[in-house]
Amino acid sequence: MSQHEPVIAIVGAGFGGLWAARALRGLMAKVVLIDRHNYHLFQPLLYQVAMAGLSPGDIAKTVREITRGQRNLEFRMAEVHGADLAEHRLDLSTGTLNYDYLILSVGSETNFFGLETVAEHAHGLKDITEAVGLRNHILSMFEQAAVEPDPEKRRAQLTFVVVGGGPTGVELSGAISELIRLVLVKDYPQLNFTDARVLLLEASDRVLAALPEPLRAATAETLWRKHVEVRFGAAVAGFDGQRVNLKGGEIIPAHTLIWCAGVRAEHLVDTLGLPQASQKRVRVEPTLQVPGHPEVLVIGDAAYLEENGQPLPMVAQVAMQQARLAAANIRHMLAGESLGSFHYHDLGTMATIGRNAAVALIGRLQFRGFLAWGMWLVVHILQLIGFRNRLLVLINWIWDYLFYERAVRLISEE
Ligand SMILES: Cc1cc2nc3c(=O)[nH]c(=O)nc-3n(C[C@H](O)[C@H](O)[C@H](O)COP(=O)(O)OP(=O)(O)OC[C@H]3O[C@@H](n4cnc5c(N)ncnc54)[C@H](O)[C@@H]3O)c2cc1C
Repeated sequence: MSQHEPVIAIVGAGFGGLWAARALRGLMAKVVLIDRHNYHLFQPLLYQVAMAGLSPGDIAKTVREITRGQRNLEFRMAEVHGADLAEHRLDLSTGTLNYDYLILSVGSETNFFGLETVAEHAHGLKDITEAVGLRNHILSMFEQAAVEPDPEKRRAQLTFVVVGGGPTGVELSGAISELIRLVLVKDYPQLNFTDARVLLLEASDRVLAALPEPLRAATAETLWRKHVEVRFGAAVAGFDGQRVNLKGGEIIPAHTLIWCAGVRAEHLVDTLGLPQASQKRVRVEPTLQVPGHPEVLVIGDAAYLEENGQPLPMVAQVAMQQARLAAANIRHMLAGESLGSFHYHDLGTMATIGRNAAVALIGRLQFRGFLAWGMWLVVHILQLIGFRNRLLVLINWIWDYLFYERAVRLISEE
């Protein structure tokens, strides 16, 4: 490769970064894709790793394998600690990297809104380590409860509190309840399963706020049917690992709190001196460039851009569509052409609530129940990267559906 070829650095091999890298295929440039992990993770199925249904390897694939064959791309596994935007230089755990263009697609991290005890004791669900940690914890609670003589302590061990009624909280609470009532009930005949509770706490008065009322109502009703106690107007104030404190004074004895109540842009963006908006996302122009640095583009969860007066949602489709525009705009800059602006093409929203149950909004069409669940399964299988992963996930799902099992009920080393 010639020394005069521009260097395009991309930070993050998630939905934004990986799609941007692929869209730069064939360009006479050196594309350097950097991630702290050596794999791309399909986050929408992460909760199924936490619920013992899938193995981490089923929903992740190494970046080197995915990008194999893209000759202008080099992958580096490294943590990006900071950047000198004036000098066009990244500070990596493995050294420095000078770039001509930079795409930041660093995603988001859990936001505990300053609740220190919650941050210390609660479980999050953002990466494989957290998902496996949560799986180990839930299964360990059942092992402990099986030999716990004190009924009050046993009930607290078997009480699982999920906070946040967004898609992740809904999917996770439905899945925990099914794991308990369809699978673990067979493993622990000595336990009285009326002791086991799953609560979904939501501070507002609705779950899945982005969906229309009939789908929200159907979701809450389905959760109840699946034995999830949905509590509205319930805001968490603290958690010491044994008790959940609600604002207003109520205490729920529980050894498990899973925090799905918010995210914010990855903390790396706080160090760059760029203008930030809500959830610490970086304000970008419609071209996805940051003010004052036309060579820097921010995309995905870390970027803040409004459409029709509303911030774009932090979802995979936004990241992937922005990735394509970011790559196209870098091509335009190199060719001296004018740049395109971002317009989100909303392909729809869906969430599964467990076996045979999901809700979906596609355009103006609303779906629920078995049909929505079937759509959810197809969409997620198709979106997974790699034939092997698709096959493994499909086999697991069919097995679990037919035999009421979860394949990965291991309490493993983290
Ligand atoms: C549990 C869960 C379920 C979800 N379900 C859905 C769903 O059903 N549908 C949907 O559309 N969206 C879903 N999302 C949201 C979706 O995953 C995100 O919107 C999407 O991943 C954003 O893409 P991104 O490229 O901005 O960030 P990501 O895909 O998160 O990628 C960011 C990458 O940057 C890397 N990185 C971050 N900081 C650094 C650093 N300093 N140095 C090196 N590498 C770094 C990370 O390792 C990561 O690989 C879900 C998210 C979660 C957590």
